[in-house]
Amino acid sequence: MGKIQIMDEWLSNKIAAGEVVERPSSVVKELLENAIDAGSTSIEVFLEEAGLTSIQVTDNGSGMDEEDALKSFSRHATSKISKEQDLFRIRTLGFRGEALASIASVSKINLKTSDGENSGIELEMEGGHVINMQPTAFRKGTDITVSQLFFNTPARLKYLKTIQTELGHSIDLLNRLALGNPDIAFKLVHNGQTLLQTNGRGNVQQVLAAIYGVHNAKKMVPFSGESHDYKVHGFATLPEVTRASKNYMSLFVNGRWVKHYLVQKAIVDAYHTYLPIERYPIVVLYIEGDPYLTDVNVHPAKHQVRLSKEPELLSLVEKSVREAIRGAIHVPVVEKKE
Ligand code: ADP
Ligand code: MG
Repeated sequence: MGKIQIMDEWLSNKIAAGEVVERPSSVVKELLENAIDAGSTSIEVFLEEAGLTSIQVTDNGSGMDEEDALKSFSRHATSKISKEQDLFRIRTLGFRGEALASIASVSKINLKTSDGENSGIELEMEGGHVINMQPTAFRKGTDITVSQLFFNTPARLKYLKTIQTELGHSIDLLNRLALGNPDIAFKLVHNGQTLLQTNGRGNVQQVLAAIYGVHNAKKMVPFSGESHDYKVHGFATLPEVTRASKNYMSLFVNGRWVKHYLVQKAIVDAYHTYLPIERYPIVVLYIEGDPYLTDVNVHPAKHQVRLSKEPELLSLVEKSVREAIRGAIHVPVVEKKE
C-alpha cells in the first residue's frame, strides 16, 4: 500500500496559516480587507496588547446569513471569484478564500453577523473547530473577535516581537487602508486609546492630516496625469518636508496598497536634485488601470503586484509628480534644511 495520504482540511489550514498569518497585523489586514470588500462605510478596530490578546473588527457591511457564516471558515470558500476568468479581473481585496480558515486554525474566534434580512448569528470557534453557534440579535454587518492568536502554535508565538513593534505594524496598515479608502470611516483603538480616526468623507487631504498632521498635509501638492493605459493622481510633499525612510510613500493600484520599488524610484526621480540625500517625500499615489494590466496573485499576502506596460507607467508617474512639484516651488528655489 502507498504511503501518501491526503491531509485533512484542519491540518492543511494550519500549514496555510504559516503563510497568511505571520503576526497580529496580518490578521488585522485580512479582517479589514474583508470588511472593505463587504461594502462597509464604517470600520472600527479594537486591539488589546497590540492584538496579542485580542483583535476585534466591527463593520457595517453586507454581513452574512447563517450558511455563509459557517462556510466562510472553510478553506477556498469565497464569494469573490467563481470562475477562472475572474482571476484576471480582480476588483476585490480578497479572492483566495483562505484567510478566515487560516486565522481560525490558530486562534479563538467569536463572530457575530447579520445580513439585515435574517436573524443574526453568533459563532464561536477554537483552533478551527466550531464550539457553539446560536441566533443572536445583531444589526446588519459583522463583528469578529480573534483572541489568543497562535495559542496552539507556540513556535510562532515565541517569534513575535515587542508590543510596540507589533502595534507599529497595525498602525502602519490602518494608515494605508485609510489612505486607500478615504470614503470609509476608520477607527483604531488600542487598549482603550484611540490612535487613528478618519471621517470617511472621501477627502484624501483630511486623511493625510489625520495621519501625518495638519502641518505636513498642508505642505502636500496634488498631482495627476493620464496616459493611454493608466491614470494616476495623488499628493506629494514639497521638498522641504522629507523623511528618512521610503515608507512614507504609499502606492495604491486600483485601491489595493502595494509595494513597488520602481514606482517609488520614479517618484524620487521626479524630485530630481530637490531632495536632500537619503531623504524621501511623503506621497500618496493612486494608480488606476484595467485590472487585466495588473497581477496581484504573486504572493498570498498580495503585497506585490506585477504591472504590464511598466515603463509607460513609470514615466507617467515621474512626469506628473515632477510637474506638480516644479509648479509649486516658486523660483528662485529656496531649499530649507530640517
Ligand atoms: P476571501 O476574502 O479571499 O474571499 P476569506 O477567508 O477572507 O476569503 O473570507 C471568506 C468569505 O467570507 C468572503 O468571500 C466573504 O464572502 C465572507 N466574509 C468574510 N468576512 C466578511 C465580512 N466582514 N462581511 C461580510 N462577509 C464576509
Ligand atoms: Mg478575505
